[in-house]
Amino acid sequence: MEAYKVQQHKYDVIVVGAGGAGLRATFGLAEKGLKAACITKVFPTRSHTVAAQGGISAALGNMGEDDWRFHFYDTIKGSDWLGDQDAIEYMCREAIPAIIELEHYGVPFSRTEEGKIYQRPFGGMTTHYGQGTAQRTCAAADRTGHAILHTLYQQALAHDATFFIEYFAIDLIFEEGKCVGVLALDMNEGTLHLFRGHAVVMATGGYGRAYFSATSAHTCTGDGGGMVLRAGLPLQDMEFVQFHPTGIYGAGCLITEGVRGEGGYLTNSEGERFMERYAPNAKDLASRDVVSRAMTIEIREGRGVGPNKDHIHLNLMHLGPEVIHERLPGIAESARIFAGVDVTKEPIPVLPTVHYNMGGIPTNYHGEVVTKLGDDPDAVVPGLFAIGEAACVSVHGANRLGSNSLLDLVVFGRAVANRCAEIVKPGAPHRDLPANALDKVLGRFDALRYANGGTPTAQIRADMQKTMQSDAAVFRTGETLKEGSQKISEVYSKFQDVKVTDRSLVWNSDLIETLELSNLLAQAVATMHSAEQRPESRGAHAREDFPDRDDHEWQKHTLVWIDEAGKSRFDFRPVHMYTLTDDVEVVPPKKRVY
Ligand SMILES: Cc1cc2nc3c(=O)[nH]c(=O)nc-3n(C[C@H](O)[C@H](O)[C@H](O)COP(=O)(O)OP(=O)(O)OC[C@H]3O[C@@H](n4cnc5c(N)ncnc54)[C@H](O)[C@@H]3O)c2cc1C
Repeated sequence: MEAYKVQQHKYDVIVVGAGGAGLRATFGLAEKGLKAACITKVFPTRSHTVAAQGGISAALGNMGEDDWRFHFYDTIKGSDWLGDQDAIEYMCREAIPAIIELEHYGVPFSRTEEGKIYQRPFGGMTTHYGQGTAQRTCAAADRTGHAILHTLYQQALAHDATFFIEYFAIDLIFEEGKCVGVLALDMNEGTLHLFRGHAVVMATGGYGRAYFSATSAHTCTGDGGGMVLRAGLPLQDMEFVQFHPTGIYGAGCLITEGVRGEGGYLTNSEGERFMERYAPNAKDLASRDVVSRAMTIEIREGRGVGPNKDHIHLNLMHLGPEVIHERLPGIAESARIFAGVDVTKEPIPVLPTVHYNMGGIPTNYHGEVVTKLGDDPDAVVPGLFAIGEAACVSVHGANRLGSNSLLDLVVFGRAVANRCAEIVKPGAPHRDLPANALDKVLGRFDALRYANGGTPTAQIRADMQKTMQSDAAVFRTGETLKEGSQKISEVYSKFQDVKVTDRSLVWNSDLIETLELSNLLAQAVATMHSAEQRPESRGAHAREDFPDRDDHEWQKHTLVWIDEAGKSRFDFRPVHMYTLTDDVEVVPPKKRVY
């Protein structure tokens, strides 16, 4: 592709993404003496992590008894026995030093009377293996993500990490099976850049925007997953999409689970606290999949609230203005702006809304990307790493517990920096690439830039979002998934006919949205097709035609490859049922109990 001049930059490690995961990795790398560059399509502190409200989990035991083993047990149970137990043990143990480290870096956590970090109860977090309620979620009021992201960015600047801001990563570059760099567009100047690294870390966040109603930012378009699929590598467990029980009805904005942690509760049209019926022990703090299904059943059976009986009420009036203003100020503001509700006087109208992608780029607990090669289900892909919501470690398995994602970001962001320090030699030279190394990715980029079909990007995106919303929802059946799989494949094919109107390279939002859509589409197909092939109910994947969990046949990770034509191919990886230290052993019960 002679037409494009590509500038080359050489670093030890390239991080794509400046959310919590990317920033923690970036300054960890700099701290270890590696030359690291972080590429990000939005200004770092605008990454979706900034919106995280409720908090970050760690068994500090500041507000009652706690133990990392309880956290470990809860996370495995929450994952519905699909989480890798070595990675979960690593995360729950490392949680404690990781939070202390964040405190030392300067995160302004809320405090107890004695000055310790304040911790609130969250769904699925218990003591003594399900017996009591744990207060494990460390919070900075209801703006924890904001506090953490800003602190991490300050640390990255303090450690002299290099940022390329408002650069859009287009595709990964591989040479002889090893990832050697990434091609990116400087959206402001309209220039192309090849970033060479001995390791490339994908920290690009989730793909919530494949759905119509999502709590995630419009920037959450799963670009990392799209790049990995195009590189011929699989994604893992894509059928597991978390619905958060309390998105604001209509707007989709999140109302944190911390509201129920502080004592808020859900009611139906009869004013009944219905969660007592579905989860007699955990009630409103049952895990998110359980609460979302209960709400959906209430609405289906005619006990929804509002003129159309199509949503549920979240009550926090009884907490009193003082608690609300001290612990949940952001919620009061969101409810006022997006639902026109004064939370000290009225309930908030809420509905289950897409919130988190458990699936993603498969990795081990060092953050190294893995794939299945022959008989080896844990084969490491040289040079490629993934962390944060883009990755599937898998600590969340079939369902993530609230406040475990922020933890995942910092623990595995740090793990990647440690691993790179072991395997990358600072300043090691980069081998020259063959002259045609960029031809394929530049060819695709050029074809999209000049795409001249008949269907605008926005229309294909709307079709995709509608299909996902209706056919890959809280409840699924073989029939709806079959129809959904067909429909989403049709939408995928329509992308052949996409039309991009703006041909320039400077701030071409039409082109950027088209590149994002192609990433979303591949993952929408991966999600729907993966859901269709898993005939059981587990975590967030609730099949009405297969209501039971089938550990005998299906306690395994789905791997899915998507080819250029949008066809899917499947294989599986075993769940790691072993731990790192043998300090703990957790085996699944025969039946699902909550
Ligand atoms: C509203 C909301 C509230 C939440 N609350 C909590 C909570 O209280 N506790 C909890 O544990 N979890 C919470 N979560 C989940 C958690 O916040 C996210 O999973 C997490 O922040 C994701 O972080 P990340 O670093 O993986 O990605 P993000 O923060 O999404 O960042 C992605 C980064 O990748 C960059 N990027 C993406 N594509 C490209 C590209 N093509 N080129 C260059 N750069 C790119 C972006 O610029 C951005 O910097 C919440 C999520 C939402 C949506």
